[in-house]
Amino acid sequence: MAEVTFIGLGNMGLPMAMNLLKSGHSVTGFDLAEDQVKTLTDAGGKSTNDINHTIQNSDVVITMLPSGKIVRSVYLGDEGLIENAPDNLLLIDSSTIDVETARDVSKAAEQKNLRIVDAPVSGGVGGAQAGTLTFMVGGEKKAFDNAKEYLDIMGGNIIYAGLSGNGQAAKICNNMLLGISMIGTAEAFNLAENLGLDAQTFFDISSTASGQCWSMTSYCPVPGPVPSSPANNNYKPGFSSALMLKDLRLSQEAASMTTSSTPLGANATSIYEEIENLGQDSIDFSGVIKLLQNKLK
Ligand code: NAD
Repeated sequence: MAEVTFIGLGNMGLPMAMNLLKSGHSVTGFDLAEDQVKTLTDAGGKSTNDINHTIQNSDVVITMLPSGKIVRSVYLGDEGLIENAPDNLLLIDSSTIDVETARDVSKAAEQKNLRIVDAPVSGGVGGAQAGTLTFMVGGEKKAFDNAKEYLDIMGGNIIYAGLSGNGQAAKICNNMLLGISMIGTAEAFNLAENLGLDAQTFFDISSTASGQCWSMTSYCPVPGPVPSSPANNNYKPGFSSALMLKDLRLSQEAASMTTSSTPLGANATSIYEEIENLGQDSIDFSGVIKLLQNKLK
């Protein structure tokens, strides 16, 4: 069994680390928040205050961090993982970050002959707990093959996306589409209701017609048609509007960097910015329907 170092034990990282622990690996966790680390150590994991010492005896480091800036600070520089890693260390970054940072970090690792993948996830906290996340993985194929045995424990669907940064590219494009499709679905339900068509009837028709999409059939933004959707639980996330906005902003950075035209992505970003400006971005992203209904104050 492997020695795993896990950095970033938040809403996603903690259950992911717990699944590695349950599968028999030895897991050492590190987070700025001590209570998160305690949950891991109470379950049989280990903690560290000296990452660069710990990694000398690790087989793999997995990071699950909030932003590209933090990923840079953890991986790069004299005190970073790459400078201090032993030769055989495998690096897996599962944070959702910008493609440029993912590629810069990978380049630095590969210059030291370290294996590294960017492996962002889809599936949310529920998927992290159940070990059913989808991983979109960029990096050298050999690094992917080595990372897969760990990703298989935390996920149900592990997809190789090509070279470094391609995992992040897939994640950002998928979530831009998700944001757009959720707004479209919310607009359709809101208009249907205003035209006198009840939500269940519209769902029964559209979910079997050409308007069908995941935002409707798995995550319907109105209460009723899909019992498991956050709409039935007062829009408690799920996937918060704040995280959706983070990913939409990443999509717009990427669009501007590559001069790609994404007018709907830009529009979706400003709609979720309205939710942020109202101080309501902790609600699930399907709560965008409440913005359309003028019910977010
Ligand atoms: P979170 O804020 O709950 O957790 C992040 C953790 O990182 C926190 O516990 C924080 O203390 C820790 N941290 C911050 N800086 C650190 C540092 N320098 N060293 C060690 N620990 C540090 O966030 P989350 O919801 O777990 O998300 C993590 C990543 O996964 C993000 O990039 C997010 O976009 C992505 N993601 C989240 C979801 C979701 O539903 N929550 C879904 C898919 C992807």
